Amino acid sequence: MKVNRKWIAALVIGAMVFGAGCSSSTEETSTESAAQTQEETTEEAAEEEVQEEVAENDTTSEEVAAENVTLEEGMLIMSTNATFPPYEYYDGDTIVGIDADVAAAIADKMGLTLQINDMEFDSALAAVQTGQADMVMAGVTVTPEREENMDFTNSYATGVQVVIVPEDSDITSIDDLQGKLIGVQQGTTGDIYCSDTPENGGYGEENVQKFSSGPLAVEALKNGQVDCVVIDNEPAKAYVEANPGLKILDTEFAVEDYAIGVAKGNDALLDALNNALEELESDGTLDKIIGEYIHE
Ligand code: GLN
Repeated sequence: MKVNRKWIAALVIGAMVFGAGCSSSTEETSTESAAQTQEETTEEAAEEEVQEEVAENDTTSEEVAAENVTLEEGMLIMSTNATFPPYEYYDGDTIVGIDADVAAAIADKMGLTLQINDMEFDSALAAVQTGQADMVMAGVTVTPEREENMDFTNSYATGVQVVIVPEDSDITSIDDLQGKLIGVQQGTTGDIYCSDTPENGGYGEENVQKFSSGPLAVEALKNGQVDCVVIDNEPAKAYVEANPGLKILDTEFAVEDYAIGVAKGNDALLDALNNALEELESDGTLDKIIGEYIHE
């Protein structure tokens, strides 16, 4: 970080010297001696040094703008699946939620305009790998397998996989899932865990029915097409609240870290996002946003 700032300061000074050189034919600078210019430049450098020491969090936006790390200049394109309250969902025509707000705060810090593209969850993951989005924020869980195909920022929230059942279900714990038909959202960690073989702690593909969104899986549960739904806890709460007759089992299937995914190897963007996240964490913005959507 420190090294980076110095490097940028050097670039700024370099540009100033270059600029002074270029404009030396103009009236104003033609009389200026080389020594004077040199002196000023050194002063500027010293000033820059002092500012560096004082300013703690001032480089994120400039660095990104300078390095132009996003796909479209001036834009930060986020892919998501907006059926995942309270992280991303529609309020009228607008996508709102924790991820939407955190993304907006990040874009703001980076001096970029946020654009959110809504698609199915697995497409949202693929979008950063195929260069259609700068980042995916969709309550994405960090897994070793995903880390092979994309890079993740530091975690900004925790998720828990839970089980939704009808209130009168004979399923009372995870142990009762054996041989039941489990509804999941395609491509999610709930899908991955449940579809795994029993030797690996899963229930086998044949016992899993995949839906393109959480609400569709819940709809199928209400219609008796599946026996339960395995999904993240916060959306689960929202779905159950909106659908009387369902409940969440008091048992945690898996505890996970949510993070922002970017294309593998895009270190400049990853660093900038981590810097922005760190700032949002230390100035209390992150907690404030989460608190607006999750009331424990
Ligand atoms: N956290 C889960 C995952 O990453 C589900 C995310 C989602 O459905 N948006 O797979």
